[in-house]
Amino acid sequence: MDKVYNFCAGPAMMPAEVLVKAQQELVNWNGLGTSVMEISHRSKDFIAVAEQSERDLRDLLAIPDNYHVLFCHGGARAQFAAVPMNLLGDATTADYIDGGYWAQSAVDEAQKYCQPNVIDITCERDGKKAVLPASDWALTEQAAYVHFCPNETIDGIEIRDLPQTDKPIVADMSSTILSRKIDVSQYGVIYAGAQKNIGPAGLTIVIVRDDLLGLAKDILPSILDYKVLAEKESMFNTPPTFAWYLAGEVFKWLKAIGGVEVMQARNEAKAKLLYDFIDQSDFYRNEVHQANRSLMNVPFQLKNAELDKAFLQQADAAGLKALAGHRVVGGMRASIYNAMPIEGVQALVDFMAVFERDNA
Ligand code: PMP
Repeated sequence: MDKVYNFCAGPAMMPAEVLVKAQQELVNWNGLGTSVMEISHRSKDFIAVAEQSERDLRDLLAIPDNYHVLFCHGGARAQFAAVPMNLLGDATTADYIDGGYWAQSAVDEAQKYCQPNVIDITCERDGKKAVLPASDWALTEQAAYVHFCPNETIDGIEIRDLPQTDKPIVADMSSTILSRKIDVSQYGVIYAGAQKNIGPAGLTIVIVRDDLLGLAKDILPSILDYKVLAEKESMFNTPPTFAWYLAGEVFKWLKAIGGVEVMQARNEAKAKLLYDFIDQSDFYRNEVHQANRSLMNVPFQLKNAELDKAFLQQADAAGLKALAGHRVVGGMRASIYNAMPIEGVQALVDFMAVFERDNA
């Protein structure tokens, strides 16, 4: 088969090296004569996987000692509920920074548990979609925490500012975690579904500051309770062991190539290649202002939407998969997460140039 590049927003492309290693050791992992997915999560062999993966993630993100790392189920959407249920305490409101689709989805869920104060930060700048600077975000005194989504996967918008607050900052990093350097100590909670930059779907990472454990009401289901999960080392029930093992292999891969800083430089080069190509063309356009363009998700439109179908069909035939935009916005979207090599982005740009030449 010719080389295929998968631009899906999630579940997304995995590093090829990780897949090959997983395949090689699938039926006889660690010399046990069984696969890793068939052994007890409480066996010493799996505990070693769990501990190593946490150590590697801690190294990669320089997670301070006063944070717990939880390996959970339920995807980011479970966290949309878990966050208010764990953090509200006696408060009845929290600030929700609204920069796009996923921030709004978090608000929809939070409404079941409190009256979120929604702060719409979207605006237009130079005729492009942009977000207001953090100094303009109208935070409230009563908020128990400030929630935001630094990378809007569908809108292709990245918010580089942090809320200016001494309240716990909660970030949905599903589509940006490990793509660029962050300072974990500035956050109360970071959470991310695994299926973009971490591993396969089914695993969700939560990084939570210790002083935020134990605020939850008794009614909170134990499986969502950060304190319970921390005390039980993410083994309150059977965790998604195979996804956890694969996540651990992705962390090893990332460390081996030089860690998050090296990855960030690669991601910036990939994004520049694609945005520069789009910007010099009259045939393609991206509607997000330079300052807020996502490193990970690049939505783009064709000049003539009637060509969308042909573009997607021909791209697919050329091995460039899953380029359709999200169903709520249409158009195209190239998700270029950590595992996408620059050769994949170059192949896309080359294809786009030919398609433009043939259809302009
Ligand atoms: N937040 C963001 C930023 C996302 O991109 C997604 C999924 N695309 C979600 C939340 C929902 O994640 P999940 O399907 O893991 O619940």
